[in-house]
Amino acid sequence: MTEQTSAPHFWALIDVLPLAVLYKEQARKAVFANQAALRLFGLPAQQNLLSLSDIQQLPLNTADSDQPFSLLQNPLLLALSGTELCQPLSIAGQKLMLQSKVISLSFTLHSSVVISLCSSSLTQQRLPAASDSNQLLAELQEALAFDKLISLISTELINVKASKLDQHIEDALAAVGEFCHADRSYIFLFNGDGSMMSNTHEWVREGIRAHKDNLQQIPQPALPYFFNIIKQDLVFAVDEVAKLPPQASAEKQEFEAEDIQSVLCCAMQAEDKLLGFVGCDMVARQRNWTSNDLRRMKLVGDMLANALQNVSYRQSLQQVTEQLQQANAQLQQQAHQDGLTGIANRRHFDQHLEQELQRASRHQQQLALLMLDIDFFKAYNDHYGHQAGDQALQQVAQLLQQQCRRQGELAARYGGEEFAIILPGAGEKECHTIAKRIQRDLKALAIMHQQSAVSSLLTLSVGFSSIWPTQDHSADRLIAKADKALYQAKAAGRNSIYHLSDVVTS
Ligand code: GH3
Ligand code: MG
Ligand code: MG
Repeated sequence: MTEQTSAPHFWALIDVLPLAVLYKEQARKAVFANQAALRLFGLPAQQNLLSLSDIQQLPLNTADSDQPFSLLQNPLLLALSGTELCQPLSIAGQKLMLQSKVISLSFTLHSSVVISLCSSSLTQQRLPAASDSNQLLAELQEALAFDKLISLISTELINVKASKLDQHIEDALAAVGEFCHADRSYIFLFNGDGSMMSNTHEWVREGIRAHKDNLQQIPQPALPYFFNIIKQDLVFAVDEVAKLPPQASAEKQEFEAEDIQSVLCCAMQAEDKLLGFVGCDMVARQRNWTSNDLRRMKLVGDMLANALQNVSYRQSLQQVTEQLQQANAQLQQQAHQDGLTGIANRRHFDQHLEQELQRASRHQQQLALLMLDIDFFKAYNDHYGHQAGDQALQQVAQLLQQQCRRQGELAARYGGEEFAIILPGAGEKECHTIAKRIQRDLKALAIMHQQSAVSSLLTLSVGFSSIWPTQDHSADRLIAKADKALYQAKAAGRNSIYHLSDVVTS
């Protein structure tokens, strides 16, 4: 069966049908013959793909005169060309009825021809009553309808979002419930160690009682026989609950309390892990489960197990990704932060200044840089101790940080007891106002500095520069300018604000 790659269970079913079936997708040349057809034509069991010339040579005769058909009247060739037929014929003296149908399957692009050949006397073929052939065709059609539905659901399930999963599971349960002629279908999931199970999804036929809410966190000892069988055999099929063995007394009691007459459950496994099971019940009447019921239940179980596993993988992947992103953001922040004061460090300052220079140059806006240095800080350290020095640095840093409220403004520790403030859009007047405010606020903090030659409180000196950046301006040049102004502020006696060579105030 090299050509029929999709829906393998569909082919497996056709291959073992006791009815001779030929199948051809309209776009393909080869015709698939099932085992019964090969036996009928006397062909070897491996030759399940026939060419059109193989078909022409099949020993087909007319039903009445047992004469070979002419090429144009050969019913197999007519059927394969898409003519729907119901015609008697004879093969090796055996009277047969040929029926052909053109059908569409969800998993092929083109419509297909299905030809069945069943033993039938001429009188029988005129009776449309439920013959073997009709029943088999009905089964085939039901199988096709089921496959079509399941292939639709499984396509939807491939990348299903967690929020849509429940709806798709319920659709799949309704499908399996309907096609197995059941009254109720459901999913139970085991907890982590498999010692408990809970009913997570349920479908019930109209008029049948739902039980989901009462079937939560059922411990293994409550239904020991069931837990054992489903874990070992992966299938729990009971045609008649009344005939359960004595060791299943707890299960029998439970099923009878729920009016269940027959039960069929199939394990849901993903990567060898037992997630739970899918199952269905008969309530209104008893049912002897068929191999088709089992096959369908297994198929739905596998499909749902994979979907559940995928969603859970994707959820944990998303969780890990979020944790990584958080850790990354934290690292990024740490890489940009000064350890002692918590404000921007030198690296962040360099990047930000470069960025603001380019932005100001592009938008033809001003850019100002303030450099600030604490006065006589060595003496402060020597007198009050390094720890007090650290605290003073933290207080000054907080104070500077509070000045930066607008987009793009940044206060940074430039090094030691030297700080910098980037002020996009600020002219000389604004810089001066801000510098004055900083000095005023620092004074208000009243950090004692008895070793200062300029005040009894801690003070700082400020140098600033405000420019209209062009392409030629570099960060180094702006820093050098502001630094020079700071040097001049120091030279002028400290606790001063300097703007290039001008002493603005002291
Ligand atoms: P000026 O007024 O000229 O700036 O004099 P100054 O004493 O402040 O300048 P100087 O460069 O001589 O000394 C700076 C001092 O800052 C020396 C150092 O002990 C102190 N310092 C630098 N970093 C830290 C720090 O992280 N913690 C503490 N406690 N002190 C620091
Ligand atoms: Mg200093
Ligand atoms: Mg200094």
